[in-house]
Amino acid sequence: MSVTNLSAAHPVPALVIALDGPSGVGKSSTSIAVAQRLELAYLDTGSMYRAIAVAAMRAGVIDDPDATILLTAHADIQVDTNPESPTITIDGLDVSEAIRDPAVSAAVSKVATNQPIRDLLTARMRRIIFAARRIIAEGRDITTVVMPDADVRVLLVADAAERVRRREAELGGKADHAAVVDQVVRRDRDDSTVSEFHEPAPGVTLIDSTYLELDEVVAQVIALVPEELLVLKERS
Ligand code: C5P
Repeated sequence: MSVTNLSAAHPVPALVIALDGPSGVGKSSTSIAVAQRLELAYLDTGSMYRAIAVAAMRAGVIDDPDATILLTAHADIQVDTNPESPTITIDGLDVSEAIRDPAVSAAVSKVATNQPIRDLLTARMRRIIFAARRIIAEGRDITTVVMPDADVRVLLVADAAERVRRREAELGGKADHAAVVDQVVRRDRDDSTVSEFHEPAPGVTLIDSTYLELDEVVAQVIALVPEELLVLKERS
């Protein structure tokens, strides 16, 4: 099934899909695939926390919570929500690659466990989501805090060992096993102190992807979208 773009005569209904889940579960791959299938915008909210971490590390303030809050309040973050090119800039600098640096992955929880920073970024995420109208947004707290009224809310989970395996495969065997376990398990433990992403909140659909292929997860998410919010492509 495919969809078409806006037409003034037939306004396309807004559609917000919210996808939560722990590290390495496949949130980004799933979200990008769903966005491409349904022609939605795509927001990786983790990239915003990562961009703040990059800027704070470069400014030498990553261990200073107050200075990092100040930096966040003044930062100009621009996110490209095209699922084909999900880039991010902070104060005019493209940090799309820098945010994936293992040092950033190791430090990002310092930013994400700072509640005033979460509040500042949550407000920005909502602005991006409302501006896009038809979008899938992924992160740790999208179904619960950022978009509790989203049309479709999913918590994607998988066993920790499987998530470590997926993250290692994604890194092409380049990463040290202990570093990947730290990224996946320790980071989630730290992140769990500020957001709940292991148990579905009321109204959130749980998808356990431990034994599922990506295509199966994508199909399950799409099946949750109410028919009237899907826009079918006109046949030529
Ligand atoms: O998903 P990703 O690993 O890129 O997220 C990076 C970090 O950003 C997470 O470890 C978490 O600390 C934080 N995060 C968050 N809430 C979100 C998205 C990400 O706390 N909605």
